[in-house]
Amino acid sequence: MGAQDVLSRKTGVIVGDDVLALFTYAREHKFAIPAINCTSSSTVVASLEAARDSKSPIVLQFSQGGAAFFAGKGVDNKDQFASIQGAVAGAHYVRAIAPAYGVPVVLHTDHCAKKLLPWLDGMLDADEKYFKEHNEPLFSSHMIDLSEEPVDWNVETTARYLKRAAPMKQWLEMEIGITGGEEDGVNNEDVDNNSLYTQPEDIMNIYKTLSPISPYFSIAAGFGNVHGVYKPGNVKLHPELLGKHQAYVKEQLTAAGQKNVGDKPVYFVFHGGSGSAKQEYLDAINHGVVKVNMDTDMQFAYCSGIRDYMVTKKEYVSTAVGNPDGEDKPNKKYFDPRVWVREGEKTMTTRVKEALADFNTAGTL
Ligand SMILES: [Zn+2]
Repeated sequence: MGAQDVLSRKTGVIVGDDVLALFTYAREHKFAIPAINCTSSSTVVASLEAARDSKSPIVLQFSQGGAAFFAGKGVDNKDQFASIQGAVAGAHYVRAIAPAYGVPVVLHTDHCAKKLLPWLDGMLDADEKYFKEHNEPLFSSHMIDLSEEPVDWNVETTARYLKRAAPMKQWLEMEIGITGGEEDGVNNEDVDNNSLYTQPEDIMNIYKTLSPISPYFSIAAGFGNVHGVYKPGNVKLHPELLGKHQAYVKEQLTAAGQKNVGDKPVYFVFHGGSGSAKQEYLDAINHGVVKVNMDTDMQFAYCSGIRDYMVTKKEYVSTAVGNPDGEDKPNKKYFDPRVWVREGEKTMTTRVKEALADFNTAGTL
């Protein structure tokens, strides 16, 4: 018995009840699926290769900037045009290629702050159009991040978007509390410490508001997480807070007369984990984290393979012809992008596999 047994679609992009079933399975079996930020077909296949080799499900996600990059930096991003087009193109690409790797894939989009909402609106238009033709949304899920806005407005607006996603059984991830640090232009480095930790009442309020609309939602709650690169030990994480949130929601639901509430009613997401210790991840996973975002570490991993190649092969890529083996020796087999881009893919694949092992996802299919 593995994660694939609970899915109606075993490989490729999964949607709706399969996404719910996968996250429920992960929560029960105490693993979290790494969500890899992808910016190109190359980073998509590097991630898929790792998932296939590790017999794991995977989440592939596009950020607003990553989606624009997928479209090409030459496309104007006025009114989020490039980010919408790039995300849609990336989604079709992932849908087409994922079955070749034989693993289930959750196709997701990352942080969408208030000023980026036109991006989310554009993607939802594409989802609804796709839904009309295929009876499922183009993307498995999206993320809305209004954590920098007043809490009431955050929850209200998230609920409005969940209402739009619900008829398509589309998952929505939301964020509450502020994740520190800097990532993709979102800078929270100078926010005071108390707001880094979400309160149980906030989680209950979200649960109460969203669950009557649809069961397809998860919460990225701040428990001291930091976006970006930090030395291990510099981040004070309190994953035990997530356990308190779960207990509080369970207690409130039970008091309200709801029957058979499990110990972990909430699906949590871990943002800003770069630099965390493995045990901190595992503690968070034990408290119901089912998805961990991986961006910074993956960028570094991808870069390192290409960096090492260029440094060691410098004299073979400096001119088209001529290298230390002879002045008339051709260098085509060294400067072919398939050779050096592949080196980045290899180091990224290795890093994704490490994450799959760290979060207990490896071997779960
Ligand atoms: Zn976040």
